[in-house]
Amino acid sequence: MNTPTKAFAAMSPTTPLGPWEFKRREPRPSDVEIEILFCGVCHSDIHQARDEWGGSTFPMVPGHEIVGRVTRVGSAVKKFKTGDLAGVGCLVDSCRDCASCSEGLEQFCEKGMIGTYNGTERDGKTPTYGGYSSSIVVDERFTLKVPSNLDLAAVAPLLCAGITTYSPLKHWKIGPGHTVAIVGLGGLGHMGVKLARAFGAKVVAITTSEKKKEDAKRLGAHDVIVSKNENEMTAWAGKFDFILNTVSAPHDINAYLELLKRDGTMCLVGVPDKAPELQAFSLIMNRRKIGGSLIGGLPETQEMLDFCSKHSIVSDIEIIPIQKINEAYARMIKGDVKYRFVIDLKSLG
Ligand code: NAP
Ligand code: ZN
Ligand code: ZN
Repeated sequence: MNTPTKAFAAMSPTTPLGPWEFKRREPRPSDVEIEILFCGVCHSDIHQARDEWGGSTFPMVPGHEIVGRVTRVGSAVKKFKTGDLAGVGCLVDSCRDCASCSEGLEQFCEKGMIGTYNGTERDGKTPTYGGYSSSIVVDERFTLKVPSNLDLAAVAPLLCAGITTYSPLKHWKIGPGHTVAIVGLGGLGHMGVKLARAFGAKVVAITTSEKKKEDAKRLGAHDVIVSKNENEMTAWAGKFDFILNTVSAPHDINAYLELLKRDGTMCLVGVPDKAPELQAFSLIMNRRKIGGSLIGGLPETQEMLDFCSKHSIVSDIEIIPIQKINEAYARMIKGDVKYRFVIDLKSLG
């Protein structure tokens, strides 16, 4: 029976999140229904709930780092049976047919991927609602097998923070012999440090927070730069092959570009609400490049989960009840989280 799904929603860009209820669809033949156990809190949830990127739709139930247990499967489902662990990341559908979808790069679907929340289903009218909720119904093609050897709550952030840092590190073939900087030690950044280290690179964390300095080494960084310290920045000028920039707020990207070697690349994954100012000199000197990367497709997300399972890589988390979500947002904006809030959905009652 299709009972209402309990959730926390933003009703407008300026109101705090609060309790709300809605109905999920009855599972279709290829659908999986998942009882959500944990959902990570991504900075994209804040950007979208506050309409910082424009185009947000309300009510909005954020959340795209979802892990839980399968409660029902449609008649054609092959991947799961009731009781299995399952995950859902940042997208719940795409056209499944274009060149990008055919290559498993559904995030770049030519007809537009369908986000787990703040999106519209392929029928063109049904809004998608995310993981700050008690259950979700998703086509099995857009679900992931979740490792059972790791702490489930700490696995949840892999579904966005993990894949968003794994994918560019793979794309730019980062490995032994590379010196890599990860800018911003938040949810994405701390995963970037762990993954770049696991890939065999020399890893330097760049943070604005003096108090994260020692911790960065515990996470796997060989060295740490506090970006407010001009001497530390100057000492690393021209030293990096690759920089992964995860910063969520407007900042001077030119200062970081100066740290690239000849032919080095800075990949942007952070999406501040204001466009950066790029000095041509920052690129033409040393023939530097700037690029970007968006989450990851389903096959690569599964590959990342399997990699993390094999290497025992999870997120460092702070578990919260859903009632603390507005406080969690305020703390994330101050950079005050080590390193990902994860909602325990039991708290929905
Ligand atoms: P987060 O946990 O809040 O971390 C962001 C970090 O950026 C902060 O912890 C802080 O690290 C640093 N930072 C904040 N303000 C800064 C400033 N003014 N100058 C320099 N550094 C600053 O956020 P997140 O969840 O990791 O997300 C990061 C960004 O990636 C967001 O914009 C999010 O929307 C975006 N995102 C993109 C994708 C994609 O597919 N491309 C996917 C997910 C998220 P320190 O304290 O170490 O300085
Ligand atoms: Zn995210
Ligand atoms: Zn497509």
